[in-house]
Parts: sequence; C-alpha cells; structure tokens
Amino acid sequence: MTARILVVDDIPANVKLLEARLVAEYFDVLTAGDGRSALAICENTPVDLVLLDIMMPDMNGFEVCERLKANSRTAHIPVVMVTALDQPSDRVRGLKAGADDFLTKPVNDLQLMSRVKSLVRLKNVSDELRLRAQTAHTIGLQELARVDRPDELGNVLLVDGRASSQERLLRALKPIAEVAVISDPQAALFEAAENSFDLVIVNANFDDYDPLRLCSQLRSLERTRFIPILLVTEQGSEEMIVRALELGVTDYIMRPVDPNELVARSLTQIRRKHCNDRLRASVQQTIELAITDDLTGLHNRRYLDTHMKLLIDRASARGRPLSICITDIDRFKLVNDTYGHDAGDEVLREFANRVRATVRGADLACRFGGEEFVIVMPDTTPEMAAIVAERLRLMVEGRAFGISQEDTVLTITASLGIATLRPHEDTAEALLKRADTALYQAKNNGRNRVVAAAA
Ligand code: GH3
Ligand code: MG
Ligand code: MG
Repeated sequence: MTARILVVDDIPANVKLLEARLVAEYFDVLTAGDGRSALAICENTPVDLVLLDIMMPDMNGFEVCERLKANSRTAHIPVVMVTALDQPSDRVRGLKAGADDFLTKPVNDLQLMSRVKSLVRLKNVSDELRLRAQTAHTIGLQELARVDRPDELGNVLLVDGRASSQERLLRALKPIAEVAVISDPQAALFEAAENSFDLVIVNANFDDYDPLRLCSQLRSLERTRFIPILLVTEQGSEEMIVRALELGVTDYIMRPVDPNELVARSLTQIRRKHCNDRLRASVQQTIELAITDDLTGLHNRRYLDTHMKLLIDRASARGRPLSICITDIDRFKLVNDTYGHDAGDEVLREFANRVRATVRGADLACRFGGEEFVIVMPDTTPEMAAIVAERLRLMVEGRAFGISQEDTVLTITASLGIATLRPHEDTAEALLKRADTALYQAKNNGRNRVVAAAA
C-alpha cells in the first residue's frame, strides 16, 4: 500500500520522527510546520492522509481540521489528530472538528501503521467512488452520480463474552450502528455468515477461547472474509495484536475503551464497507448499462452480437433448434414526422414492452437499431417461431399505442421475418441475413405480416 501522507507539527523533531517511520514503510511523506502551510499543501497537492498535531501556535489542529473539512476540495482527506495522552477531552473536540481518528503521543508504531492503513484503504475506495460518480455525472447518468449520501447506520456484530462490557460498548455504538450482540464466539461465526454485517467487533475477553481463532475463521469463510474486524484488546497485548493484524484483522482498540475512539474506528470500517458495497454495485450497473439500450431497457446490439454467438454454439452442440425473429415497425418515419420525435420514442418504448411481454424468459430480446428489434429463441422450431411472431404481430396491431401528447392513440403495425438455425453451418451473420431477407419480403408483400425464410 502506498499513499501520500502529510505530517503537520510545529516541533521539527516530532515531524522527523513520524516521517522516518512512515518512509520506512514506503509511504510518500510531506511535512508542514504550521497550520497555514498544511492547508496550502492540501489545496494544491493530492494528499491521502493528514497526521495533525493539536498544539500549534497561530492556528491549532482543531481549526486546521475544521477548515480542511469545510473546503470541498479537501473535505475527503482523512485526518488523524495526534493528541496528548492526558487530554481525553481533545478527542471529543477533534471529532467535533471532523477528525477521522486519533493517535496518542508518544506515537506507537503499531498504532501508527494500523490507523494509517485503515484510513488509506477507506480513502482508496471512496476516491474510486468519487471518480466514477464524476464520470457518471459527465455522461449524464444521474442515478450513478450520487456519492455524498448521508452515512447510513452500520450493521455491527459485537462478540463479547461479558455482559458488563457488552453494555458499555453498545451504548457507545448506538448513535452510529444497529448492533447485534453475541457472547458465544462459535455461534458468532454462524451469525456473521448468515447475515450481512458491515463490521464485526471481537472483544478479546472470553474465559477459555482464543479470540484469534474466531478472527481467522471469519477470514477464511467465503461469506465473511470481506467483513472488517475490529479487535478489542488488553493494554500490553502487543504480540497478540501483531498476530491479529497478520491474520487480517482490520484494526484494534485497547481497553479501557474510549467511546470516542470506538466510534471513530468503527465509522471508518463501516464507511469503507459501504463504499466497497457501492463500488461492487456500480461495477454491476456499469456492465448492465453497457449492454442495455437506453430508450427501451432491452439488450442492445453489442450484447446481441456477443451473446447470440454463444446461443448458436450451444444449440449446435446440443443438437437443439434455434430460431430468430427480426421485426421492424411499419411506416415509423410517419409517426415521427406527424407527432414528433418524442412521440416516436414513446411508441418505441411501448413496442419494446410488448416484445418483452411476448417472449419467454429464455429468449433474448434486443433493440437492433432504430425501430428494428431482434428476438433470439433457443429451443424453438420454425413452427413455434411462426406462432410467436404472429402473436407479437397481433399484440402490436391489436391494441392502439397511446402517446401523451393530445391524448392521441395510434394504430401501429410491424413486419416480421423469421429464420431457423442450420446447425454447424450457420454463422450469426448468415442467420440474421436470412431473417432480414424474410423481413424485406414481408415489407414488399404489403407489411403487417410474418414471413419465414426458406429452411
Ligand atoms: P418501413 O415500413 O419501410 O419500415 O418504413 P419506416 O418509415 O418505418 O422506415 P424508415 O427506415 O424509412 O424509417 C425509420 C425511422 O425510424 C426513421 C428514423 O427517424 C426513426 N427512428 C430511428 N430511431 C429512432 C429513435 O430512437 N426514436 C425515434 N423517435 N425515431 C427513430
Ligand atoms: Mg420501419
Ligand atoms: Mg427500418
């Protein structure tokens, strides 16, 4: 993992110390000795994370943080406040100023690395989301362009062997999450696998159970391997934490648990999970958009070109029949010329709905172009194809098409050409060509009819 980290502290020795540790882990480090230069750097260079000292002359860390979070150009940069151990109230102020997490001086290596890595991972996914939203916005896809949704409540599974600590952690998490609590770590594994949690918090306080066993099981089950895990441990259990992080535990927090710290760290994980979920959904949506016709929601020609070949290969291999139907709306230009292009679009959408209503789930219906549609019908003989095509013809002719303008209804007809696969001989192009020739005949024979290509 590499990232650019800005270290802000007015004491050069502190800056040097953090810089050296981060550089040793191959992070790219920038430094600033006061708040104003920190703000300027964030404005002008891409920064992935800010480590921010609180006590600085002129402008203190709280103010720097507030300004970063108030500026839309820098608001997305995670900020870790570096606080003094004896000033717990600083954490509350830091959170109010918009800080994402804390580190306590003197900064311990393990803490530094887990905080930095957690937040950089979150930034990576949220950057990707923002980028996609920008693209979606540019190409006018508003439904994909929304990123800045308010934080939803997280779904958290709290695995904790003791009633007293359960209660305390629950209270702290209440404002940010729906929490399911479970005392038995083995049952927790099933619970986690059967529900969709955004975060599992494992409190390492079981009487005779190794909490790392649960963590490692969570990491190995298919259904739970991507859920972030936050481990709650005793002070001084450094060795256990190192092993936990190696096992894939996402972050940790030491007892006594500071509720502010718990909330900050849980929020980071919940946000990252939500970002990841949305990214995955957006990939799915992008794929769907790429193969879907905008106007009608049917598959587009690109999808037909690829998928039809597969359907043909499969039909040939299995010795099954396959038929296709090309349909073209009759005198459609007249609709556009008389009622306008928008009315034409309405007719196309309704036509597509009737196509959808006519075909079976296994059929592939596409908008081939303009007012032409193709239906690929696996397991369909020429006789069956003729019946389907005739049914579609009647569906179109039989009921008038409404257009919103002037309460007009239009009688629409279509011509249809059908053709059936010649196994092991036909290419997709040849099959389409035969169906198209049949369609041309249907047009020539007076339109509003079905013509079958010679077998
Ligand atoms: P034919 O019976 O011979 O098929 O006559 P036609 O008028 O339907 O055929 P022609 O190919 O001459 O015209 C097709 C028209 O379809 C022309 C074009 O403007 C219109 N068209 C193509 N795509 C769209 C679209 O997305 N929306 C609208 N409203 N019209 C479209
Ligand atoms: Mg036409
Ligand atoms: Mg046409």
